[in-house]
Amino acid sequence: MDTVVVGAGPTGLVGAVALARRGHRVALVDNDPGPADAEHWSRRGVMQFHHPHGFRPQAVDVIRAVMPEAFDALLAHGAEPFGPDGAVAGDEVPPGSGLRCRRMVVERELRRVAEAEPGVTWIRARAEAVQGECGRATGVRLRDGAVDADLVLVATGRTAGLADDRRAPADATDCGLAYVSRQYRLLPGAEPGPVNSPLGAVALHAGYVVIVFAHDAGTFSTLIARPSADRRLADLRHEAAWAAAVAAVPLLATWCDPARAAPISPVLPGGRLHNTYRGQLDDRGRVPLPGVVYVGDSVCTTNPTAGRGVSTSLLQVEHLLALLDDGGGADPEALALVQDAWCHAWIRPWFLDHLATDAAQTARWAGEDVDPTRPPTSDLVVSATEVDRSLMAVVGPYLTMRALPDSLVALHPRVREIYASGWRPPVAEGPTVDELAGLVGAAVGPGVPAPPSVAPAAPATARA
Ligand SMILES: Cc1cc2nc3c(=O)[nH]c(=O)nc-3n(C[C@H](O)[C@H](O)[C@H](O)COP(=O)(O)OP(=O)(O)OC[C@H]3O[C@@H](n4cnc5c(N)ncnc54)[C@H](O)[C@@H]3O)c2cc1C
Repeated sequence: MDTVVVGAGPTGLVGAVALARRGHRVALVDNDPGPADAEHWSRRGVMQFHHPHGFRPQAVDVIRAVMPEAFDALLAHGAEPFGPDGAVAGDEVPPGSGLRCRRMVVERELRRVAEAEPGVTWIRARAEAVQGECGRATGVRLRDGAVDADLVLVATGRTAGLADDRRAPADATDCGLAYVSRQYRLLPGAEPGPVNSPLGAVALHAGYVVIVFAHDAGTFSTLIARPSADRRLADLRHEAAWAAAVAAVPLLATWCDPARAAPISPVLPGGRLHNTYRGQLDDRGRVPLPGVVYVGDSVCTTNPTAGRGVSTSLLQVEHLLALLDDGGGADPEALALVQDAWCHAWIRPWFLDHLATDAAQTARWAGEDVDPTRPPTSDLVVSATEVDRSLMAVVGPYLTMRALPDSLVALHPRVREIYASGWRPPVAEGPTVDELAGLVGAAVGPGVPAPPSVAPAAPATARA
């Protein structure tokens, strides 16, 4: 089958190589020129590229199944596999291991494999439209020319919008938070800072969250996830404000101590973050153009602090490949319908989970107390394991995405009891959001132009 994959992010790269290795002729269309050198790749259009990423086992297992040589190269580069308890696995990395690595390094290795794949033809161009004839897709139109194909995979990411006018609008809400992050490298011989999660370290503060993501070869990212509506904290993007925050937040002060580590990136502000879900079908529930399948972030995005995006993307690829292996390509309409139903059942629940938890977090960041008379959101259920460890039997599979969010409903009565007793998740030592804003304001001083507003807003295509 002739396939064109539009978008060479993780979804498109893995999809293209997997299809080529199954004997399909694959054209991979992306305008990005690729890395400038081993440490530099600007990746315009993929805002999150240099922000911290953690790679869950679901994503890593798909990468290992499709392109094991990329995984081996990542290990050789110093990417750290981890098991469910967070420990770095030994020489033999068991299936079901996650990976600590910078996104740039992971994508560079995936791209290297895809560039060397004989069955993948790279076309450096922007796809302008999906073309169709007699009610089915025939390929994509580029600025100069076209690529013919029986199957078009739209892997264009969270904002690109190729052929989006054909399908029903997205369901979308603002995550209520924005990223400011910075990458560092440990100095020779220096030990990493304290860890309390498989990906590194997390500190829940009053009104914001701080996360340290351990990466490859002694690198790590530090993140302040702040309320997106609070414009005072947008100034964290200034070097002086970031330095003040690092000095005041104990977790950051420890990890970023100049005796331990040095920055390897500027301070990186993030763009708007949305939870979005958009199926394959049009407003009337029909396949708009058989032969087109949307995959990856073009179907679902979720609050990135949970680190699910690459996994939900590659699980879609894995499912689509299984359908094609079963001969699903012969009936492109059925292919899209089955993929849509599967995504609705297995991907959309993560989107819905974030709608609820993000709204609740935004309210709590604004000062609202937990209401124990209402069903607890998933994050509250997870926090309650600090009081009752037996809850972990159910919470553990949810945290590792082996069980869908609905699995937590069985715990609601016990969790409500815990919150009704007056217990609340402990807040990390360090400045409150107002104190942090004060430090930021003092560091930046007057006269700095106000950053653009990042008040919550739904994307243009949003239905919600
Ligand atoms: C701030 C942030 C942090 C995140 N952290 C994590 C994390 O810790 N763990 C995790 O698993 N996920 C994380 N994610 C999600 C993860 O980044 C995405 O799920 C992932 O990038 C999806 O891959 P993709 O290939 O579908 O899309 P993308 O990576 O966006 O790639 C899309 C590609 O399509 C190309 N393209 C777009 N339009 C066209 C066109 N018309 N023609 C040709 N090419 C086109 C682009 O150039 C790009 O190469 C994070 C997301 C954000 C926003």
